[in-house]
Amino acid sequence: KGNGRDLVSYFSPGHDSQRRTTAQLLMHSALREALQRDEFFLEYQPICDTQSTRMVALEALIRWRRADGSIVPPDQFIPMAEQSRLIILIGRWVIARACRDLSALRAAGMPALQVHINMAAPEFLDSELPAQLVAITAAAGVDPRQICLELTESVIMQRIDKALPVMRELARLGFDISLDDFGTGYSSLSRLKALPIASLKIDRLFLRGVPHDGNDCAIVRSIIDLGCNMNLRVIAEGVEQDAHLGFLRQFGCTLVQGYLPGRPMRLADLMAAHGDPARLPAPVPIPAFH
Ligand code: C2E
Ligand code: MG
Ligand code: MG
Ligand code: MG
Repeated sequence: KGNGRDLVSYFSPGHDSQRRTTAQLLMHSALREALQRDEFFLEYQPICDTQSTRMVALEALIRWRRADGSIVPPDQFIPMAEQSRLIILIGRWVIARACRDLSALRAAGMPALQVHINMAAPEFLDSELPAQLVAITAAAGVDPRQICLELTESVIMQRIDKALPVMRELARLGFDISLDDFGTGYSSLSRLKALPIASLKIDRLFLRGVPHDGNDCAIVRSIIDLGCNMNLRVIAEGVEQDAHLGFLRQFGCTLVQGYLPGRPMRLADLMAAHGDPARLPAPVPIPAFH
């Protein structure tokens, strides 16, 4: 089933998909135990304003600390969790923890920030999501406008018939939606214009070639223009170098995320930095880019 439901596979002893099934079962029970044992934790990566140089939002990123102390990154377990309803349980845990952390930040006197939360297709398309989001935020005393749900193009476009009404409902309730990894999926521009989204995130793939690769530069500039002209906030991901920041500032991208503004960090470290660990270097006279 992991390969899609409408496929027939032939069994042979030691068949590759058979081994994968066993591995999947093991992973599935390990993830279920991880939830019970509270082995997941969140790190927060700052999203900064290139003009004010301040942190304006955070992206919550899940990690798994295994019993042996090793840390497993999300790419190594989220795809597995997505094969079952486990992803919904993990996703709801993420929302609840992020809301609790938002309250803690407010109690510590930090300015109100928006938290971005990543969502896989099954969590987003679960019919109980809107009601549960409302309940979780209300219980934590968090304003829905402080929550931004990050969806990839494929999550939205694969089931656009189901996704669009959910997006509209969430927008009506005050939640923001951001299009993650923009440019790597297959959304059509005609669809894009109909989406009730507040922002889009330029995939970090494109930043890698900035400023030396002419095509990457053209793509990044075009996405910035597209987003701005559609009144969306545009967030560049994977900002690692001063040259990236200079380029983005020059071409009007006001929000950045990446190792240069700040790495993902634990809540305690965020609080220790008094809410502003991620001061960007101030704008400098901009070098010429072509
Ligand atoms: P994403 O949403 O695109 O998150 C950005 C990823 O890029 C994060 O990887 C982050 O640590 C990494 N990153 C940030 N700045 C830089 C940079 O300057 N250079 C480079 N090379 N990488 C950078 P991470 O934390 O390993 O997460 C990977 C993916 O896992 C995320 O991609 C997201 O799709 C998924 N994910 C993370 N947390 C959750 C979650 O709570 N729920 C779900 N469903 N998915 C999640
Ligand atoms: Mg994301
Ligand atoms: Mg992304
Ligand atoms: Mg991603």
